[in-house]
Amino acid sequence: AKKAVLGPLVGAVDQGTSSTRFLVFNSKTAELLSHHQVEIKQEFPREGWVEQDPKEILHSVYECVEKTCEKLGQLNIDISNIKAIGVSNQRETTVVWDKLTGEPLYNAVVWLDLRTQSTVESLSKRIPGNNNFVKKAGALEGVPISGCLGDQSAALVGQMCFQDGQAKNTYGTGCFLLCNTGRKCVFSEHGLLTTVAYKLGRDKPVFYALEGSVAIAGAVTRWLRDNLGIIKTSEEIEKLAKEVGTSYGCYFVPAFSGLYAPYWDPSARGIICGLTQFTNKCHIAFAALEAVCFQTREILDAMNRDCGIPLRHLQVDGGMTSNKILMQLQADILYIPVVKPSMPETTALGAAMAAGAAEGVGVWSLEPEDLSAVTMERFEPQINAEESEIRYSTWKKAVMKSMGWVT
Ligand code: ADP
Repeated sequence: AKKAVLGPLVGAVDQGTSSTRFLVFNSKTAELLSHHQVEIKQEFPREGWVEQDPKEILHSVYECVEKTCEKLGQLNIDISNIKAIGVSNQRETTVVWDKLTGEPLYNAVVWLDLRTQSTVESLSKRIPGNNNFVKKAGALEGVPISGCLGDQSAALVGQMCFQDGQAKNTYGTGCFLLCNTGRKCVFSEHGLLTTVAYKLGRDKPVFYALEGSVAIAGAVTRWLRDNLGIIKTSEEIEKLAKEVGTSYGCYFVPAFSGLYAPYWDPSARGIICGLTQFTNKCHIAFAALEAVCFQTREILDAMNRDCGIPLRHLQVDGGMTSNKILMQLQADILYIPVVKPSMPETTALGAAMAAGAAEGVGVWSLEPEDLSAVTMERFEPQINAEESEIRYSTWKKAVMKSMGWVT
């Protein structure tokens, strides 16, 4: 067997909306040594409701940990080298557990769910304008859980966006663009949210971020797969889109649960428009990918207006970024280069980095030299700026048609 130079290892649980993963990294290079992933079911009991089974989530974590440890064993890597575990999770997804029995009272209500909308509205009318060492994880019992970050904060850390003005966009179920604003809480004038980015140590300061959120990104691929059945796997969308290389004037606004930033219109619903006799499933697949890029353009524009200094390139990550057509379209529509790490598991990497850098663990330095295994791929804009603007303004026309649908 190949004898790699191994530093201390750090594991990360990445409990996302579409799947659960456990990954193990070498803390000296950020090389991903082994991982396992399990897709999580989503239930839609009523229109606007999105739920998941909390026990399924929990068991998927155990399964991923066990399987990853088995794979490490096959690579002759001793799991006792794992010194810490980080956790990154879906934000705003809520589960209530019975304190005595440990049983969940109901399904997890997922962040995409709309049922609390009226509660939130009435609450907002009333408002004028640490380290947690848990010692249980099946195969890794006794290993400290020393870092815990929301998925988007974890990706910000994994992309090394530690300076004021550094930003990343993650393409998962939704799309989330976060820009580090340092120790200042900055409030948006263009529909973005203010959020806590991270606090890396008891005596370390809290860092904040501005956030642009898009509800539906990768979820549109899943919808084409599960609801329309025009693809069998998420990856297949790229093949369809490539066949035509254009949406042929078709625009798809996937406002399935209203529109998030910068519109915040819960009454919007999805539309596919600009159809002709000529339109086929390939054009719709292409339009779905373009929609993800246009939505990112909207939040990037808002971010640039709030921050004053436009981003000169966009750092990206997340499950969808393996789609090369999507990445090229994104560079074309933003008209700036898009930069993607070779190792796409940035959220998990960020959680592992935080756990490895924690007090009492101290195996990860958070310096660039400890990320030597991660290389970057760049996508440069290839269409002209004028063409890019025309497509974007047609998209905006489509967005206007999707708004105010539910009365
Ligand atoms: P999350 O963290 O929200 O669970 P991931 O980062 O794991 O999401 O990304 C998974 C999402 O990306 C799914 O919605 C899936 O449909 C979509 N996806 C995965 N691969 C591709 C691809 N090659 N092209 C388009 N969409 C994809």
